[in-house]
Amino acid sequence: MRVVGVDLGGTTTTIGLVDSERGDIVNKVQISTKAHEGYKRVIERISDVINEIKSDAVAVGVGSPGSIYDGVVRFSPNLPDWKEVPLAKMIEERTGLKTYVENDANSFVLGEKWFGDGKGKSHIVALTLGTGVGGGVITHGILLKGHLGIGAELGHVTVMPNGPICGCGNYGCLEALASATAIVRMANEGRKKYPSSLIFKSDEITAKVVMDAAKKGDELALRVRDRMVEALGIAIAGFIHIFNPEIVILGGGVSRAGDIILEPLKRVVKSRVMPSFEGTYEIVISKLLDDSGVLGAASVALERLEVKR
Ligand SMILES: [Zn+2]
Repeated sequence: MRVVGVDLGGTTTTIGLVDSERGDIVNKVQISTKAHEGYKRVIERISDVINEIKSDAVAVGVGSPGSIYDGVVRFSPNLPDWKEVPLAKMIEERTGLKTYVENDANSFVLGEKWFGDGKGKSHIVALTLGTGVGGGVITHGILLKGHLGIGAELGHVTVMPNGPICGCGNYGCLEALASATAIVRMANEGRKKYPSSLIFKSDEITAKVVMDAAKKGDELALRVRDRMVEALGIAIAGFIHIFNPEIVILGGGVSRAGDIILEPLKRVVKSRVMPSFEGTYEIVISKLLDDSGVLGAASVALERLEVKR
């Protein structure tokens, strides 16, 4: 079966024709989202690309940032005028293809279930470590959504009461300690104490710069890494107790740091789970890399088509 996956982002949008049997992207087009032009223009341009590449596709899946309910984008922090936008309906009208929409963290976990390390598994917890921290949960083979469809906001569990303020207004959320934004903030906070850190030799401080410095043994970078890993480990141990997953999958830009976070993370989690959970789970970094967005979006459609059958 072939479906189109649309990875809608605040800056760029990637649209790909995905073959579910082959498990790959047949054709892929990347465009600038140009959110400032307004949602109607954005959706028109996306629909034009879908029409160009759809060939024998049977449906469209979209992974979108923000709160999504029933194909409608209720609100999205990265897409300013997107309030109550009937995204699925608008794409259907322009392409003639049935369209399904999920938030990008839910689409990430579905992508792992269809194409990644979650294949063949029914209990998966996924975290995307990017500008924010997104969460997606598959339990008993089904995407966990909650009663309004906005659940599994794993990035906003409190891991440190009285910790740093989070974009959501709360204090000490996982996102405020383990996102790329948090890593950069924590690095900057160490400037006074560690002025000669490798981090400050770089023109622009990014999470990648911090993690690269940690790999070279930079003291400040390692402290930031430790703080981030501690927060992530506390959260993941909690998720393991709640969901009893077979696998915990990390994605997003920060996860590319690899073993410098994964190995200490495994130790923190191991030290915090109850003995009965030891050895019941694995923690891995997603291998879908740059394709995770489009494959995840395509999986949103594949999942719905499969459930219907
Ligand atoms: Zn928060």
